[in-house]
Amino acid sequence: MERNYAWKKYQDNKDMKKVMDFAEGYKSFLSECKTERECCKFFEKKARDNGFISIEEAIDKGKKLKAGDRVYATNMGKEIALFVIGKEDIADGMNILGAHIDSPRLDLKQNPLYEDTGMAYLDTHYYGGIKKYQWVTMPLALHGTIAKTDGTSIDFVIGEDEEDPVFCITDLLPHLSADQLTKEAKKVIEGEDLNILVGSIPQDNNDNDKDAKATKDTVKKNILKIIIDYMNSFDKKTGNGKYEYKEEDFMSCEVEVVPAGKARDMGFDRSLILGYGHDDRVCSYPTVEAVLRAKKPRRTVCGLLVDKEEIGSVGATGMSSRFFENVVAELINLTGDYSDLYLRRALSNSYAISSDVSGGYDSIYSSAFEKNNSAYLGKGFAVNKYTGARGKSGSNDASAEYMGKIRGIFEGNDIYFQTAELGKVDQGGGGTIAYIFGNYNMNVIDGGVAVLSMHAPFEVISKVDLYEAYKAYVAFAQEA
Ligand code: MN
Ligand code: MN
Repeated sequence: MERNYAWKKYQDNKDMKKVMDFAEGYKSFLSECKTERECCKFFEKKARDNGFISIEEAIDKGKKLKAGDRVYATNMGKEIALFVIGKEDIADGMNILGAHIDSPRLDLKQNPLYEDTGMAYLDTHYYGGIKKYQWVTMPLALHGTIAKTDGTSIDFVIGEDEEDPVFCITDLLPHLSADQLTKEAKKVIEGEDLNILVGSIPQDNNDNDKDAKATKDTVKKNILKIIIDYMNSFDKKTGNGKYEYKEEDFMSCEVEVVPAGKARDMGFDRSLILGYGHDDRVCSYPTVEAVLRAKKPRRTVCGLLVDKEEIGSVGATGMSSRFFENVVAELINLTGDYSDLYLRRALSNSYAISSDVSGGYDSIYSSAFEKNNSAYLGKGFAVNKYTGARGKSGSNDASAEYMGKIRGIFEGNDIYFQTAELGKVDQGGGGTIAYIFGNYNMNVIDGGVAVLSMHAPFEVISKVDLYEAYKAYVAFAQEA
């Protein structure tokens, strides 16, 4: 059962330009949005620009929702759900596209700043499944939020602008790595050693500061002063410059350390994109684009972009939270008479695609894959009937009937797709948010874009797969 390369379809027609143009929009999104908060804000703006109103506005105005209306809800700035109300009753079910907007990275600890031998560092705790050795000796940027004790908060980015400084985790020189190079790969760089070097000039001795004469931690003190200057400059931009920053503010900040730099075209033919966070923004972006395109759909269309997938979908902003269910309850209340039974019917009658990436077949590491059931870059939308590990454990296993329905939609819309599973049996595995949709008793299947070097600081995807995913989501939203 051979599947074709999707490029063939576009080579002879003008749609090749559409494939490339769609990738341009995605690249600028990926370059700008490197955290779940940034993605949430980006999608909220996009929704508002396309006629969506927030569910709070709808509730406040006592607005009665009808077919074609567009509403969204955000959750703590890290999760967003978009809905286009369909002509049919919501209790008959929705067509849901669910993706995640968190990506593997390093997070600053709550007491991160310290000095050792004349160097200042920020200590981190990694987030999600990373190969730690990949995160050293590359330029890193800080994307963060500080919540202040006066109730305000600021968002900031340092390290993306050409004028900004960047940061880095050092590695040991090969000349002295006799011991290091005999270690197992998972121990070559240890989690507790993911400390970012952030400065080396000691505090000026002539400084009037009362600590100026102190000899301890003088680099740290100098760096802290510079960090506070940075924060004040960000505050000024927001017109809220009264707050006095101090080291304790790290306690209530979320700072994500991510690879610095933009997403780039890759390859002489520019067919690929190298960038940070394709998992799972390469599915989030076309998901939102597909929902924006839905005009007076038959069934209510929903795009759900969740946080915390990379650490098990836990917590208030993860898929396991009641947020989604609560928002659907509000939606039902706004379209007619709410009842618990009505809500349960709406959820269990829904169809979902858990829009998440697949591990792309990599010929260099062929022994980890099984050739007949792998996702290939360039072969279009990758459908996983099941995910999981060690005998499908932890997976939602979509029914044959639902798989048949999905195939029918894709075939009817000339969408190039392939079926895949993650690697060889017992080689490893992974999960998605699919099983949590499944808990509502709805039909759900995994589908998304194949990625090379998944969870590495820079991952690789194919532009044609991104475009096929977009077309697959549009078709699913309209026809499921
Ligand atoms: Mn993912
Ligand atoms: Mn992942």
